[in-house]
Amino acid sequence: MSDGALVLFSGGQDSATCLAWALSRFGHVETIGFDYGQRHRVELEIRAQFRAFLATTPWADKLGEDHLVKLDALGAISETSLTREVAIQMDTGGLPNTFVPGRNLIFLTFAAALAFRRDLKHIVTGVCETDYSGYPDCRDDTIKALQVVLNLGMERRFVLHTPLMWRDKKATWELAQDLGGDALVQAIRSRTHSCYLGERTPHPWGAGCGTCPACELRARGWNAFVGEAA
Ligand code: ZN
Repeated sequence: MSDGALVLFSGGQDSATCLAWALSRFGHVETIGFDYGQRHRVELEIRAQFRAFLATTPWADKLGEDHLVKLDALGAISETSLTREVAIQMDTGGLPNTFVPGRNLIFLTFAAALAFRRDLKHIVTGVCETDYSGYPDCRDDTIKALQVVLNLGMERRFVLHTPLMWRDKKATWELAQDLGGDALVQAIRSRTHSCYLGERTPHPWGAGCGTCPACELRARGWNAFVGEAA
């Protein structure tokens, strides 16, 4: 089994930072993204823009293939605001209705199946408990348990990495600064997407509607980051 890595890369700030983190550590890094009928295609389109930036960095030679996996079934069984034209709100269980039940379990299982075929040992995901949205499949315990399940079920020795698990958004920007300096920070600012509404209105912290929960979280993290640096 090679020492290469597979990064779950959605085109958002967190997964872009994880991709840089993986490139700084492993000799060969591939990416996987999922097309499950998201309302907004911008997330998928912006992945190529960020990868194009990486091709201009000293990490270029390490960056391997991108794999885009269609998961239509996930969209078909989801009644959420990410895949249907409904407003984002909190449901009675305290979870945002952006929640696709078990989505990260499914993503990681598909990633492991691909990593198996590609002979990659390390699987990297940007899940995080700190900016807690209530997603139980982003929890540290869930990921640790899943690593055991995947290694038993596929008879491999995958290592699941979650470099952002205990970082807030400000610390995620700081990690990007440490990994790739201003060039990486600017690339993540301008070539990643977080907005739930798929808008690309320019703001200091990147592009988005500015008012949805994802934009608010991103703006707060950026302001804390630049406030500290000033
Ligand atoms: Zn937004």
